[in-house]
Amino acid sequence: MKLRTVLAAALCCLPSVALAKVRIVTTTEDLAALAREVGGDLVEAQSIAKGYEDPHFVQAKPSYLLKLKRADLFVQVGLELEVAWAGALLTSARNTAILPGNQGFLDASSGCEILEKPISVDRSMGDVHPLGNPHYWLDPANGATIAGNIAHRLAEIDSAHASDYEASLLKFKSKLVEKGKEWDALAVPLKGLKVVTYHNSWPNFAKRFGLRVIGFVEPRPGIPASPAHVQALETQIKRDKIPLVLIEPYFDEKLPQKIAADTGARLAILPPSVGSEPSIKSYFDLFDHDLKLILSAIGKGESKP
Ligand SMILES: [Zn+2]
Repeated sequence: MKLRTVLAAALCCLPSVALAKVRIVTTTEDLAALAREVGGDLVEAQSIAKGYEDPHFVQAKPSYLLKLKRADLFVQVGLELEVAWAGALLTSARNTAILPGNQGFLDASSGCEILEKPISVDRSMGDVHPLGNPHYWLDPANGATIAGNIAHRLAEIDSAHASDYEASLLKFKSKLVEKGKEWDALAVPLKGLKVVTYHNSWPNFAKRFGLRVIGFVEPRPGIPASPAHVQALETQIKRDKIPLVLIEPYFDEKLPQKIAADTGARLAILPPSVGSEPSIKSYFDLFDHDLKLILSAIGKGESKP
């Protein structure tokens, strides 16, 4: 067989449209899940932080440098959520396309409702929320905005598929509206429910579903509790008859367990991210899981999620 024939035979068997997927690296699994919703098969989205890790403090594996080097798009939560680790990683990756100011860099917070914006920036005592609360993905309305931000950027980077990204975004948003109705109905018994949480991760979630977060195990985000703080918190839990202490999965349970035991409150581990548990695979799974878990913890759920 002549060489040309061999080559022709080989080429015929390759996929006719061998367009590379848009390579997306996100800081969190929530962003990667939203990128998959709007990108579908046209993208390959991977997150550096896992859902069971504290997104403020991530030990990024060196393998992520290679992924960042090859990435077409980097997406971060922003508001300094990842300030302790993402910037250094981006610089080390030496991929100009994904540096801030370029098309391949996206801060997902643009246009989202950001709560607790300070009048002046305060990093005193190590507060890790100096620019407002960065856990804003925990309101589905912000999820729609984040998905829109990612879809629009994908349409710029991969303009040949702009209409595909727009169509996927519309489909995602309409499913979110339907699921939102379901979640609001589920959350009716949660209206006015007073809770204590470990970290200040939940203001957007609480606002959407009617919970009242009245205190934190950490006195301020990222600051360990002192004995005086714990005592004051326990007094408040007993006085206000707060039934529930919620802890993110990446914090030590010992202190919250003691607080629950001392006060009679129940303790529940509430995942704030996709991937916190293997069953939470999508952005929709996250709200399904969390609402059912809280209902179950206060004895109003049908069964454990
Ligand atoms: Zn935080």
